[in-house]
Amino acid sequence: MSSDVISREVQRRRTFAIISHPDAGKSTMTEALALHARMISEAGAVHGKGGRRSTVSDWMEMEKARGISVSSTALQFNYACEATDDDKEWPHVINLVDTPGHSDFSEDTYRVLTAVDAAVMLIDAAKGLEPQTLKLFQVCRHRGIPVITVINKWDRPGQTPLELIDEISERIGLIPTPLYVPVGIAGDYRGLLDRRTGRFIKFTRTAGGAKIAPEELLDADAAAASEGDAWEAAVEESELLGELGQDHDQEMFLAGQTSPMIFTSAMLNFGVRQLLEALVEFAPPPRGRVCIDDETREVTDPFSAVVFKVQAGMDSSHRDRLAYMRIVSGEFERGMVVTHAQTGKPFATKYAQAVFGRDRATVDTAYPGDVVGLVNAMALAPGDTLYLDPKVQYPPIPSFAPEHFSALRVTTADKYKQFRKAIDQMDAEGVVQVLRNDLRGDASPVLAAVGPMQFEVVTARMKAEFNVDTIIEPLGYSLARRTDDASAPELGKQRGVEVFTRSDGAILALFSDKWRLQYIEKEHKDLLLEPLVAAA
Ligand code: GDP
Repeated sequence: MSSDVISREVQRRRTFAIISHPDAGKSTMTEALALHARMISEAGAVHGKGGRRSTVSDWMEMEKARGISVSSTALQFNYACEATDDDKEWPHVINLVDTPGHSDFSEDTYRVLTAVDAAVMLIDAAKGLEPQTLKLFQVCRHRGIPVITVINKWDRPGQTPLELIDEISERIGLIPTPLYVPVGIAGDYRGLLDRRTGRFIKFTRTAGGAKIAPEELLDADAAAASEGDAWEAAVEESELLGELGQDHDQEMFLAGQTSPMIFTSAMLNFGVRQLLEALVEFAPPPRGRVCIDDETREVTDPFSAVVFKVQAGMDSSHRDRLAYMRIVSGEFERGMVVTHAQTGKPFATKYAQAVFGRDRATVDTAYPGDVVGLVNAMALAPGDTLYLDPKVQYPPIPSFAPEHFSALRVTTADKYKQFRKAIDQMDAEGVVQVLRNDLRGDASPVLAAVGPMQFEVVTARMKAEFNVDTIIEPLGYSLARRTDDASAPELGKQRGVEVFTRSDGAILALFSDKWRLQYIEKEHKDLLLEPLVAAA
């Protein structure tokens, strides 16, 4: 495969995730994007809570029960940008990688963000910045992922654009650079003033917001005549933003200093096309990646990919293990035999699949930025590298500092073997971190997680996949430090501290609270107590 072809494929790809607090409208927006890309012909068919069918990305029983999405899937669609894509036969390829949408945090969320090149920060116009959005934003900042800001639900009463802009600048130090200013206050969404052309994009509602909202383009005079004060207010806001220097600047956006901003109603499909165009125009295409030896594997080099997520039990009729890889370089062809860098063993990709909700479509070729699911991937774990020669290995995905610790006990006496197998499998998949010590013994490992939701996933899967009843007993620890063999005995004697070995061999000391830790640090300066990698 010539590098010209790969280069061209890479240039037309955009891989991103939506980061948002639950209920800001991520599922609705995902569906609106699919509608605009003409993947679906009507919104509401796959989306919706309260009576409508479940979303495209729900899959687990638990998700259905709780109305949340527990794991990640990837959605790929083509999009020909009206303004910039001359060749409609050669559209852009958009990969939307889904982040779990519940309020608890899990390591999956972080891992997904290692697989994207940009993020869309979706904010509810009435609520402004919310805790989950903030945490996810910190991860993006930490990883240098550029962020496009979307103020959603503009069809409902909410804050003013300037209030929202101030809140974002002040609380997270990211300067919004609106590409459009809404015409009509929140709750009276008529259209958008395009700040670059000065023209008015007027939207018309469709029944139930099920279809793409028709747009009419008006020049400034016609807009003033049609919208009166609402237009004048938008013009003033736009001028004010210009005076403040809040205009889009590509370099500052890529450096994570500014964020192009768009106002939308995912429900009415207003502003959704503008979001797609912004992704195409400004979000960066896939780039090469630095390996553990500090060399960079360029996108046009031979095939390589990073596994960022492993899951099982996706579909009761396919009881297997699915690993998602993000392609970093080269062309992927289904059937290719690649090497698993961690073991040096060959891995046959006969069953590569693109994943769209429950439907599994076979993938034949894929390029950097694409996400491919590999079936029966028993040996693969998050962070692993797959490649074609020459060898490459990417740095592991940092395992984030756990803040929740619980003992897991099996309650059916004769199920110990299955229990053990299940723990090992979920450990390998990275569902939770597994800690053990001699005192507690093998039958009662301690699970460590970033969010308590991860524990529920373990007990639910224990039951559903292995038919083992377990109970989770929260422990009174709230933070962990890495230590070593030399320090472990002394630490073990301290009150409010317990020492464990994690399955990767790391020795961790758990502390009841930060005061306990600080006290021990002061009293025993010789002990090794290193912070674990934190999210930000
Ligand atoms: P998620 O939890 O972020 O995936 O949020 P959903 O997409 O499920 O949306 C949460 C609720 O907000 C649902 O009742 C949606 O119908 C509603 N919603 C989403 N987008 C909009 C919007 O643009 N306008 C209004 N009025 N409601 C919206």
